[in-house]
Amino acid sequence: MPKNRRIFFIFIAILIIVVFILLFYFLRQKSRQNTNGAIVSSPSPTTTITPTVTPTATNQSGQFTYPINEFTTRITKKLFGIYITPQNSPIQPERFTGYHTGVDIEYQDVTTDVPVYAFTDGEVVASQTVLGYGGVFIIKFTWNGKEHTALYGHIRPSSLPALGHVNKRDKIAVLGTGYGSETDGERRHLHFAILSDARIDYRGYAQTQSELSSWIDPLTLYNP
Ligand SMILES: [Zn+2]
Repeated sequence: MPKNRRIFFIFIAILIIVVFILLFYFLRQKSRQNTNGAIVSSPSPTTTITPTVTPTATNQSGQFTYPINEFTTRITKKLFGIYITPQNSPIQPERFTGYHTGVDIEYQDVTTDVPVYAFTDGEVVASQTVLGYGGVFIIKFTWNGKEHTALYGHIRPSSLPALGHVNKRDKIAVLGTGYGSETDGERRHLHFAILSDARIDYRGYAQTQSELSSWIDPLTLYNP
């Protein structure tokens, strides 16, 4: 091989190596960028992530499971304890006034049957139609050594559970169809309320803050 040609081939070989190194470096940089183009730090390979805390409001592994699917993400209108008036209500027209004793889980966008589940082991102690709810039932249960009651409101009356024991995760009823007798004219949603004693109390709104203190925010069951 003539000397000139040999130098030429060596030059080409070096060029190819340089191009590969540059290409490798470029691709590595690109893989560190997220879809917004922002550079994110890659996790250190020596760090082991050990989950020690359960995410808030998603803990269903203990005594309680959700009373309805998508329980936390569908609480979008009436939270626990908010003061509702016909003027300020997120629901219009509004016929109620007072502190909301539970949470409302919204299902207006769903047209198929929406099941509700026993959120814990307990006893159904009331199951009937009540003014303001349509179908409603109440489960008595013990939490931290104390009796409580949980109210499920706006249930299809024909699906109401019988009185007696229910097991956690049992499908025990379905939501009523909105704007009719099954929900007493209300939109399709579950009103879910926890009373911190064993009484049967159907009130969906408390008139004073001291009355409201008999109820607790149901989300606290999932944040032990
Ligand atoms: Zn409600």
